[in-house]
Amino acid sequence: MSYAILDCYTDEASGLGVPPYLGTYPRYIAGHLGGNPYYLTIDDVRLWKKHKSVVKETRESQKTDVTTYNLTSNYKNIDKILHEIEELIIVLGVHVPGKYLTAIPGTLKEIIPYIKELKCRKILTGPAVFGTQLFGGRFREKEDMSVFDKVDMMLFNFPYGNVKEYAIKGASIISQIPDNRMIEIETGKGCDIGKCSFCLEPIKNRVEFREKEDVLNEVKEFYRLGARFFRLGKQTCFYTLPYAAEILHDIRAECPDIKVLHIDNCNPVKVVRDKDDRITKAIVEYCTSGNIAAFGVESFDMDVVRDNTLNTLPKIAYEAVAKINKYGAERGDNGMPKFLPGINIIFGLRGETKKTHDENMKWLRKIYDDGFMIRRINIRQVAIFEGTSLFTHGGNKFLKKNKKHYWSWRNDIRQHIDSPMLERVTPKGIIMKECYAEMYDGKTTFCRQFGTYPLIVGVKGRLPLKKFYDLKITGHMLRSITGEVSS
Ligand code: SF4
Repeated sequence: MSYAILDCYTDEASGLGVPPYLGTYPRYIAGHLGGNPYYLTIDDVRLWKKHKSVVKETRESQKTDVTTYNLTSNYKNIDKILHEIEELIIVLGVHVPGKYLTAIPGTLKEIIPYIKELKCRKILTGPAVFGTQLFGGRFREKEDMSVFDKVDMMLFNFPYGNVKEYAIKGASIISQIPDNRMIEIETGKGCDIGKCSFCLEPIKNRVEFREKEDVLNEVKEFYRLGARFFRLGKQTCFYTLPYAAEILHDIRAECPDIKVLHIDNCNPVKVVRDKDDRITKAIVEYCTSGNIAAFGVESFDMDVVRDNTLNTLPKIAYEAVAKINKYGAERGDNGMPKFLPGINIIFGLRGETKKTHDENMKWLRKIYDDGFMIRRINIRQVAIFEGTSLFTHGGNKFLKKNKKHYWSWRNDIRQHIDSPMLERVTPKGIIMKECYAEMYDGKTTFCRQFGTYPLIVGVKGRLPLKKFYDLKITGHMLRSITGEVSS
């Protein structure tokens, strides 16, 4: 049987697969299929449909076309491949919608007309089997699914006993990706303490961790194949991993030339409970600077915390912020602080009132006034999925009620917390090393370091893209910074 995997990209509470990240699903599926299927992206398909697979030059007046930016080495042959293969496996699904600098995830609405006429068998998998929504503040996409021969849960969720083998075999798909990728590594799934009203994770997965050796072997295989950017990001809480400190040590020992080693989600409760701060110290020692512990605080309003059975009390979130700052605030080799907290806030949860915003501001201001750093505050409107307690109790009631306030609430946080915080985290004059030029917007080039939630640096002029630059920081916008190439 001949196969192609079509990556429309995935974004979940635990696990990112939107370029420059390469998610786990297409890799595991490739491994399951023996390691040799075609790997295609939604960008390849868009270029085929829109421009007959011919890449257009971006003129000076134009923005880089990010809908067709992430091409595989197969992009010129898409028509042939799609008409020859017997089975097309579509990986799709966004559960935590974000903004992506150089990628636009495919939606069901977009992909269905593209593939409708193809003769091959069409399988849909990925987080979309539970529903998908590219935009916050809405219910999941509803489309006619009859175009798919199967919506396959199995391909979405292999047992770890099989992942051990598939992860290694499937690493070979990076040979079909000409650009650098940040390899998202899975360490575990499920959530041992959370019952958050909006979250699908406890419904999707029971708590399970991969074996340490399996994780290490996967990283080693990617390293052998030339990958140098890694994030141990596919888990609900890095601190819950039984071998959190050890795996970082081992990766460093086995893969000495790794350029970026970052982590993602951390539960503030576990950070506070970390005995002798062992895991925090290991993260600071073995990971790369610019690292972030993303905290799903969601709300600092005790009423919202209670009504949505959120896992973190404001006081605990504050303590965790202080602890990460204690060890991670120091500036590291690439110009960024070594390890800082990030805070996620969600609008539209049950019990949300104007007081919710006041409480959020009160705690964020306290964190700032007490001299701590937060690397990012991610604010989004909740996406409501069937099966969650929010879907059954409350739904979009609070979203609808408070929607009129969201712009000003968000703006308040951006103006009064984010903006001064950004100046603290990246003061003028520092050099941020190894920033990758990704796209143009008019006469500005946007660059980022590889890493977890990297800051966007706008540089005047059009630097050659897909090259690395050391940038001196010259100014601050609300959530991004400006810089110039450091001589
Ligand atoms: S802590 Fe809450 S949001 Fe995080 S994974 Fe668990 S249930 Fe989901």
